[in-house]
Amino acid sequence: MVRTFLDLVQIDSPSKEEAEVAEYLTTALRPLGVEIWQDDAGRKISGKCGNLHVRMKGTLPNVPTLLFSAHLDTVMPGRGVKPHIENGIIRSDGTTVLGADDKSGVAAIVEMLRIVYEQKLPCGAIEVIFDVAEEVGLLGAREIDFSSLRAKCAFVLDNEELNRIVVRSPYANRMLFEVEGIAAHAGMVPERGISAIEVACKAISRMRLGRLDPDSTANIGTFEGGRATNIVADHVTIRAETRSHSEETLQRQTSHMQDCFREILPAFRKEINGKTIEPKFHATVEREFNAMNIGPDSLPYQLAFAAGTELGFHMEPQSIGGGTNANIYNGSGLPAVVIGTGMKDEHTTAEHIAIADLEMCCRFCLEILLQNAKSAA
Ligand SMILES: [Zn+2]
Repeated sequence: MVRTFLDLVQIDSPSKEEAEVAEYLTTALRPLGVEIWQDDAGRKISGKCGNLHVRMKGTLPNVPTLLFSAHLDTVMPGRGVKPHIENGIIRSDGTTVLGADDKSGVAAIVEMLRIVYEQKLPCGAIEVIFDVAEEVGLLGAREIDFSSLRAKCAFVLDNEELNRIVVRSPYANRMLFEVEGIAAHAGMVPERGISAIEVACKAISRMRLGRLDPDSTANIGTFEGGRATNIVADHVTIRAETRSHSEETLQRQTSHMQDCFREILPAFRKEINGKTIEPKFHATVEREFNAMNIGPDSLPYQLAFAAGTELGFHMEPQSIGGGTNANIYNGSGLPAVVIGTGMKDEHTTAEHIAIADLEMCCRFCLEILLQNAKSAA
């Protein structure tokens, strides 16, 4: 399993460039008597690879099919990863991420399938999705044809702690704001211009941002505009987001952020060449993902809880502020939780994972299969 993990992290797979790692997995899994194929997500998201689907028949016919998933892409700097092991911990050489996010999940699933096959483990059928372009907006997962799946519930392997089950995560809106002013020579006739930068700054200074309440956040992520010091800036583009576990708060904050712009526009009204001119504002709002909120009586929660407890963990539900593939799964009617792989400090060059945790993640998945067979018996 460690060998598989080390192989995986040494294959470059930035978002939309997962073809090589998908090929490695196809070769590794084919001898296990599984069905394995790629969907058309690659074409739809202009990537080089679709989501890789795997289906393994179970030995027990009346046990619900379970789905396990982990994403194939890694964040930057993630090319040319050189892993090394010291005191049972796997790290990169410090110049790149390790890619344990999410190749620890991928390796654990591969090992789970190997063990089920080699030991003829009594369990139900297993579906696996190794999805693409997760790190750039859950793009692969959005293209999954959920009607083609047989699974009754899903486990997304994409979190740190093995004793946590992610059950709750927020709604998110992504926003693009554009402010249009009037360009003019800043030294000769500034009175004939309206600075889009000034308008945007005034609007943003009135905004509630950061942590809004324990369940809600908002952020201005990028601010771009202007051409030169001697030109009154006529255009600004701003990218922002808000997240909340409450859809009502999400919508209220989304309106508030737009209102801050709209309400400030009249203050910049001006007579230019005999005409009354006001800066213009335009907003595009997009639902990035819907919230997930899984109850303690749901199948994936119960199975993960029972499996972890069986392995000696004190299992706890977790609420997070980010979106994962589980948001997409739950939103598409497939109950899903996120479980940990043991990865630490992901998205940094200090990312690492203990071999013992990596192995435990695989045992966790196997135990979920056993608990599922037990509860269906
Ligand atoms: Zn991840």
